[in-house]
Amino acid sequence: MSAPPSPAATLNAAQMAAVHHLAGPCLVLAGAGSGKTRVITHKIARLLQADVPARRIAAITFTNKAALEMRERARALVGPRAAKDLVISTFHSLGVRLLREDGGLLGLKPQFSILDADDVLGVLRDAGSCSDNKIARQWQWTISLWKNQGLNSTTALAAASNDEELLAAKVMRLYEERLIAYQAVDFDDLIGLPLKLLTTREEARSKWQKAFGHVLVDEYQDTNAVQYELLKALVGPADSPARVPFTAVGDDDQSIYGWRGATIENLKRLPEDFPDLKVIPLEQNYRSTGAILRAANAVIAGNPKLFEKKLWSDLGDGEPVRVIECDGEEHEAERAVAFIQGLRAQGASGGTDFAHFAILYRTNFQSKVLEHKLRAAQIPYKVSGGQSFFDKAEIKDLCAWLRLLVNQDDDPAFLRAATTPKRGIGHTTLGKLGEFSAQWKVSMFEALFAESLAAALGAKAIATLHEFGRAVNELEYKARTTVGHDDARALLMGWLTDIGYEQHLYDNEDSEKVAAARWNNVIDFVDWVSRRCGGEIRNEGGIVEETEKQSVLDVAQTISVILSLAERGEETDQVTLTTLHASKGLEWPHVMLAGVNEGILPFKSDGEDMTPERLEEERRLMYVGITRAQRTLVVSTLRRRKKGRDTVQGVPSRFIAEMKLSEAGSGEDPKERLKKLRAALAAKAAGA
Ligand code: ATP
Ligand code: MG
Repeated sequence: MSAPPSPAATLNAAQMAAVHHLAGPCLVLAGAGSGKTRVITHKIARLLQADVPARRIAAITFTNKAALEMRERARALVGPRAAKDLVISTFHSLGVRLLREDGGLLGLKPQFSILDADDVLGVLRDAGSCSDNKIARQWQWTISLWKNQGLNSTTALAAASNDEELLAAKVMRLYEERLIAYQAVDFDDLIGLPLKLLTTREEARSKWQKAFGHVLVDEYQDTNAVQYELLKALVGPADSPARVPFTAVGDDDQSIYGWRGATIENLKRLPEDFPDLKVIPLEQNYRSTGAILRAANAVIAGNPKLFEKKLWSDLGDGEPVRVIECDGEEHEAERAVAFIQGLRAQGASGGTDFAHFAILYRTNFQSKVLEHKLRAAQIPYKVSGGQSFFDKAEIKDLCAWLRLLVNQDDDPAFLRAATTPKRGIGHTTLGKLGEFSAQWKVSMFEALFAESLAAALGAKAIATLHEFGRAVNELEYKARTTVGHDDARALLMGWLTDIGYEQHLYDNEDSEKVAAARWNNVIDFVDWVSRRCGGEIRNEGGIVEETEKQSVLDVAQTISVILSLAERGEETDQVTLTTLHASKGLEWPHVMLAGVNEGILPFKSDGEDMTPERLEEERRLMYVGITRAQRTLVVSTLRRRKKGRDTVQGVPSRFIAEMKLSEAGSGEDPKERLKKLRAALAAKAAGA
């Protein structure tokens, strides 16, 4: 095997300085595409060279996908053996590790469940005795924000300044009690509880502060207050000789999670909290052409500057940034298809694989029309960071059942299936069950039939629980023995009727239209599952296909695998469709920004008062979008756009003007342009 390349080989002087500063805290504060993430991967290699064992190097990224990518980049740099042991994770997954190992100190069993957003909504509806999803969502939002600011129900109650907040704080109290009883945590707890662990339990603190020899944080500008505290708790007090050195990299101009509690204050506090912090700016952008970078710089110049930054590129001016006007969403989607097919046919520089293209948009609902047109044009794509089909609540409900059939010890699936739709299993019962399963270190399903549980619960509760357990067992048996499309479909539809799922959707949605759409998704899903059970299937053209039959349980097994693969984001050659938020840190040769209109980007909901702060965050989103592009950038705006059921006139986003494309022209030297123009005219004249 050849030796890994020296980290110094492809770094500029400022990047080198950051990579070689091993001793103290270090902050790389620099614009998009300047190689901040590259500093992190190379610094990992440098630390390994300096004999820090891989398992003592912790790199924290913003998403699981970014963590995977970082591990890939590290593998390329340091080889698979060392890369395997590196601790590369998100704040959340690091939190999971801390809690799985030491959550016991806070009374949490090692196999605690992690609730996703839908699970949380269900618990909140229940805790607040509220069937109105809108209200429950508002609670969810408020409680999450509070948690991210480091508040709990007691402090939130004390700080509540109006009736709404008072009620939310009270619901928060019930919610907290339920989570404890269920031995469950939500995403925010994955940060908050480890922090509590490190700040209140000396044994945990000393263990974890010794665990790492260096901590690296990417996308630092988007950490929230609690994450910052967790980082501080991990590295130890600034004046302690045992303090763990760390490296944070970030860009205040790309801070786009203010709405989720991320705060730029963390950037300002870093030099205050760590007086020996070495701050290193990077100025060369290695990602984008001059024309793209100029547009990005022009847009972000509209925001007040926190830190002075310069950004330049020597990749040449490249193709001018293009703005296209479309008649509506359909037309825009057609233009997107043409954009991809055109550049592929041309053999555009930068690459013509599907994976070299991305279409970015502000809101999830924009992806639907794009998906339709891409599918019709047979262009493979993936929707990343948004609501893919499998992320829809109703599909997750069904998947929870399927997962439970495959693995009865899957506690989150158990909780979801046992409570959706409601079947009279109340939170006290689930709480007791959670307690028992923690005590005996078994899954909830296993605890279900234990005799001592029966003694602890009333006859009615135990009967409902047993009935649920039997229903799972029975369905598992049927799923194991049912093969072929028709029987599978009958089984699944029959079971949906048994559990009253359609009614459940109508009961829980304010709008019948939404409920009907959700039910349609369910039917789609049932079809999809049953087709996979094989047998004679009539396809769209009416032709009968014969495929090998398999059982519903086999298919459920495959689906469980697909779900975990989807979480891991397996790569293939596909165009990326993604929200601007989820595009952070990534890059593509050819990028189209879709729906760049007033009201969409900057986003404005009805009746909202656009504060300067909100507008600035939207502008940063635009900056993030522009700076994802390496070679080609097309910005699309709609003349007419859909708004609810109506079609309204579309107004181009102010950010388009702010790119100052006309002033900069193509960026080409005017004399050169004139020369070309003359030559073209002369050629035309000669032709005539
Ligand atoms: P963002 O702010 O969008 O997260 P970033 O600052 O993290 O961007 P990177 O993703 O690390 O930037 O780098 C952008 C691109 O430039 C990558 O393709 C990277 O490989 C390349 N790059 C960075 N530094 C260098 C360098 N010194 N020489 C050559 N290429 C580089
Ligand atoms: Mg980066």
